[in-house]
Amino acid sequence: MVFRVGFIGLGIMGKPMAKNLLKAGHKLVVFDISPASVEALVAAGAQRGTSPSAVAAQTDIVITMLPDGPEVEQAVLGQNGVLEGAKPGTLVIDMSSISPLVAQKAGAACEAQGVDFLDAPVSGGEPKAIHGTLAIMAGGKQAVFDKALPVLKALGSHVTLTGPIGAGNVTKLANQIMVASNIAAMGEALVLSTKAGLDPEIVFEAVKGGLAGSAVLNAKAPMAIARDFHPGFRIRLHHKDLRNALASAEALEVPLPITSLVQDMLVVLMKDGMGDLDHSAIVRYQERMAHVEVKRPE
Ligand code: NAD
Repeated sequence: MVFRVGFIGLGIMGKPMAKNLLKAGHKLVVFDISPASVEALVAAGAQRGTSPSAVAAQTDIVITMLPDGPEVEQAVLGQNGVLEGAKPGTLVIDMSSISPLVAQKAGAACEAQGVDFLDAPVSGGEPKAIHGTLAIMAGGKQAVFDKALPVLKALGSHVTLTGPIGAGNVTKLANQIMVASNIAAMGEALVLSTKAGLDPEIVFEAVKGGLAGSAVLNAKAPMAIARDFHPGFRIRLHHKDLRNALASAEALEVPLPITSLVQDMLVVLMKDGMGDLDHSAIVRYQERMAHVEVKRPE
């Protein structure tokens, strides 16, 4: 089935996701506040949209992939936003990682206009966005999810309906807590091993097939050891996710001591000018504390 799909937010994740929709044969109209990002997609075969509302007017399904809740509110609910151009029956899928409360607010505004809504954040980072193998965790009505599935399957290999609108982002927050804590634990382990005189690469090879092995370790340990902190997933975006997790936890009266600790590390790294590095750079916080750099011996 071929759909007319709008795509708003063509950054690290949105750009390869939009390209996969073109590859799957869908007709694409794109918008981003960065003209260079739009040009790259137009060169790949997409049509230029002049605003989120113009994108919605020309399509039946609109996907947003934006940094955080305020940008989603602006692009969907704001002036010249998606809701100004959408028709009853349009489907809006927000794939950004945002607060579940903002997802519910956007979803309610859409439904009040007869527009279907799903929150459907993703995990897997840029490599899985490129390969179309993201894990997609959706929230919304079953019938709306079924309608979205053919398009979502062009973007991800694991697509799960986790509950009503907002549930996708609760699941994503759970994911981000586990990823951040895992990287922080990896950093401590590699700093200790290096300070003890070991080659961190050999330590990584030794443990990756055991119980400590994980997708996070496989993706992030090689980056730390190679001193390659090019994002990937930026520290400032992970800080945003943990902020949303801690706010939800406070509302639900759930203590998150490990998440709070890792969030403090992210604050320090951002203050030290590392907010745009990959989140594997959490290891740099631990390196500074121990006065050691995780790298292979000369
Ligand atoms: P990014 O900063 O690379 O891209 C965001 C894009 O949105 C940019 O091109 C920006 O110009 C555009 N934008 C910002 N405000 C806009 C607006 N009001 N209207 C239109 N365009 C606007 O971010 P990203 O890494 O692609 O992440 C996008 C979302 O996906 C975030 O919520 C992030 O947490 C989530 N995510 C990222 C990764 C990753 O590895 N990068 C993985 C999973 C989930």
